[in-house]
Amino acid sequence: MTVDIDSGSGFCYGVVRAIGMAEEALRRYGTLYSLGDIVHNGEEVSRLSRNGLRVIDRQTFQSLCDSTILIRAHGEPPETYRCAERNRNTLLDATCPVVLHLQRKVRQAYLDYCPINGQIVIYGKPGHAEVNGLVGQTGDTAVVVEKPEDIGKIDVSRPIQLFAQTTQSTAGLHRIRQAIQEAREKAGVPPDIPFLVHDTTCRQVANRVTQIAAFAASHDTVVFVGGEKSSNGKILFDVCRQNNPSAHFASRTEDLQPDWFLHADRVGVCGATSTPHWLMNDIADRIRAFATEKRPSSEQPKDSIL
Ligand code: SF4
Repeated sequence: MTVDIDSGSGFCYGVVRAIGMAEEALRRYGTLYSLGDIVHNGEEVSRLSRNGLRVIDRQTFQSLCDSTILIRAHGEPPETYRCAERNRNTLLDATCPVVLHLQRKVRQAYLDYCPINGQIVIYGKPGHAEVNGLVGQTGDTAVVVEKPEDIGKIDVSRPIQLFAQTTQSTAGLHRIRQAIQEAREKAGVPPDIPFLVHDTTCRQVANRVTQIAAFAASHDTVVFVGGEKSSNGKILFDVCRQNNPSAHFASRTEDLQPDWFLHADRVGVCGATSTPHWLMNDIADRIRAFATEKRPSSEQPKDSIL
């Protein structure tokens, strides 16, 4: 059995940058607070916690004073910055530049659309940190839609600007656009009422969809390694499943089942933009160990018989 690790999988630019900033601060100060998980991967969060990273929730953040706190790549709404200032906290801002750019675009769209009673619509996961950061740019007025059935929340007779959470799929954004367009036509909205669509999905994610589809299709069995809370992980795992019926999800080596590999000659290991390379390597090593264990004893290397 051969086990390949997908060279395109693993941390995206924004996550590499945020973790690098955290590690640098930990080397310097020994302890650092992070508002929420620095990355949606429990194993990586545990590793950084062992090095001194303290993950805090919003309630703790609001009462913490005179400390240094990391803002993760997802970004935060303006109120978070105001709260930090009130409590004399120093923020180590690791907001991904792609997200920062999107926040500014959403803010500008909101300012432009206020005088014409327009609406800002965000295609994304309600309650996700990045989405909360975007909604905060609009004074909490933006409408969040996750699927075409949600568009009943939008008043389609008003001007609309539609943006996407960076980790959503381009295909999903097109489905939302189509649903809004059809609702406007059904309601008889004149075409001169603006409806602008901004494809703000991140290229780092979009490019991985085609790449991971090809990787999944070219292996007998695929193990997708990701955190349970990762939105990007869910999207990419679905792509794996669509291209390989023998695709499995694992968050840690303990999740692997020997049965998954019984009839596989070529196994592929891949992951999300929040999956560390060291974890994919550990998973690949464990799969290779299964292959050794399933060989008849006459074919096993001597040290594995002992
Ligand atoms: S997925 Fe894209 S936008 Fe999101 S953190 Fe990574 S590089 Fe930045």
